Amino acid sequence: MPIDQHGDADLEGLSIRGLPKVSLHDHLDGGVRPSTIIELADAIDLDVPETDPDDLADWFADKSDSGSLVEYLTTFDLTTAVMQTREGLTRVAREFVEDLAADGVVYGEVRWAPEQHLARGLSLDEAVAAVQDGIEEGEDAAERSGRDIRVGQLITAMRHTDRSLEIAELAVDWRSRGAVGFDIAGPEEGFLPSRHRDAFDYLAAHFFPTTVHAGEAAGLESIRSALIDGRALRLGHGVRIAEDLEVVSSEADEVYVKFGDLARWVRDREIPLELSPSSNLQTGAIQKWGTTMEDHPFDLLYQLGFSVTVNVDNRTMSRTSLTRELSLLVDAFEYTLDDVEAFQLNAAAAAFLAVEEREELIEIIAEGFAS
Ligand SMILES: [Zn+2]
Repeated sequence: MPIDQHGDADLEGLSIRGLPKVSLHDHLDGGVRPSTIIELADAIDLDVPETDPDDLADWFADKSDSGSLVEYLTTFDLTTAVMQTREGLTRVAREFVEDLAADGVVYGEVRWAPEQHLARGLSLDEAVAAVQDGIEEGEDAAERSGRDIRVGQLITAMRHTDRSLEIAELAVDWRSRGAVGFDIAGPEEGFLPSRHRDAFDYLAAHFFPTTVHAGEAAGLESIRSALIDGRALRLGHGVRIAEDLEVVSSEADEVYVKFGDLARWVRDREIPLELSPSSNLQTGAIQKWGTTMEDHPFDLLYQLGFSVTVNVDNRTMSRTSLTRELSLLVDAFEYTLDDVEAFQLNAAAAAFLAVEEREELIEIIAEGFAS
């Protein structure tokens, strides 16, 4: 099935872009327009590697495809450098929401780490306020162009620093003003969620939802700590949960699999997996299974009944969109409209929203896919 130049694929006569979608794992500093980086850099006299937006988009894609995690991570130095002022944060957040709306996303959660945006004098609180202003401006702009979208903040702490309790307090402080959840990000290997037990205890005591990056750069031990120490309600990627599955035999359409206790828990308790197909390939998260989309354990997890959701992780680095990620999966695994709808319904059910708001979201999706 052909995917057009915008990453869209025709699915049973429908454009994937036109279908209502939910985006749960989408980094703010990973989704900045190249043209905006160039303009914001100019305003603060910062050198950029390319001064033409298309060339800069290529630069991001090349670094991210290089197979070197170090090269990949340097791209974030550039995006975060232009997001150190109120103006920069607000603009990036506004455009982030507009870009999601243009891609057919009706509900999104944007994650970012306020502690990484204080280099030019903003306080944590001012940084969160700047992003919230941008989100609301983006929602209004989308509405004016006839698109309804709602976006919540996932306030993120860095796992290699020691500010997680302070960031958890910040998140809870913003809970009725735009923050919907908490996350930890950054180097997973060597920095278990248990290291941030104080923060997670605080969040649990305040009944504040957490998702935790786990099962991407590290394996089962990290996922176990995310669930036990982090009380994670969702797993950021979580793709390496497949390491706890033993495929005993596989013939025709029948796959016989032995579950480890951890995989059984994640599947049976319906703990959503925030899978990000292109990113998982680029970061080597799925290298145990192979190097192409067809090798991704996404389909195995889906067929076994895990709550799989489809995400972008970093749109600028992977030069992608939610539409494109779904198109790549449809292409690799011959998914139907019903499958793509199931992924959206999983994501809607996993959203950090009140139950009546999730039901509303589920209705919007069901209507959109039925029409
Ligand atoms: Zn991520």
